Amino acid sequence: LSPLLGRKSKTKPNGKKPAPEEKKIYLEPEYTKSRITDFEFKELVMLPREIDLNEWLASNTTTFFHHINLQYSTISEFCTGETCQTMAACNTQYYWYDERGKKVKCTAPQYVDFVMSSVQKLVTDEDVFPTKYGRDFPPSFEALVKKVCRYLFHVLAHIYSSHFKETLALELHGHLNTLYVHFILFVREFNLVDSKETAVMDDLTGVLCSSACAGGGGGNGASGGGAGGAQNHVKER
Ligand SMILES: [Zn+2]
Repeated sequence: LSPLLGRKSKTKPNGKKPAPEEKKIYLEPEYTKSRITDFEFKELVMLPREIDLNEWLASNTTTFFHHINLQYSTISEFCTGETCQTMAACNTQYYWYDERGKKVKCTAPQYVDFVMSSVQKLVTDEDVFPTKYGRDFPPSFEALVKKVCRYLFHVLAHIYSSHFKETLALELHGHLNTLYVHFILFVREFNLVDSKETAVMDDLTGVLCSSACAGGGGGNGASGGGAGGAQNHVKER
């Protein structure tokens, strides 16, 4: 018997199959290094002094929606009811809830479709995302932005965990990584997505953001120009 075969037949002592989770190829250093820009996103996401917070949240959220929708569309032909019977990211399952709060059983492409159409509806609703001068944001605005960002995170997490190979084949992993870093830094800056929610991708976030994130407070100070400029941004809201 060759040693190779011997190794192959090895089972865990308790007889249980190992976790079904595949190797996370998106964590391979050769891929995590890939970006389309080395721009300092930490500074980019900060609220500029002269801009209203809600305006800033609205315009960024809308842009992330379009970019994540576009990124998903590149692999959507591989995300089918057969390949992705449930909406999952690593070992986490996501469920859609209808307007009455009822759990809806759906495949990943259906879930993404629910996300994209409901977000599209929100960001084009003048009562929620007003674009005309003098119109106010509704009191529920921040809660809605949080909801949108949570759903968009699910889509990003699903692309990484289920469609990274296809993204690689299309050579779009640099775009995906860049979009992910930008998005994560944005939602962290304004506390838009619960850390429990993003925990499923913490290993990736740790690697991708190791230079850019530097753990929330303080900043790393090592990179970027405008020394001191970072301190000026408005914290209270
Ligand atoms: Zn899928």
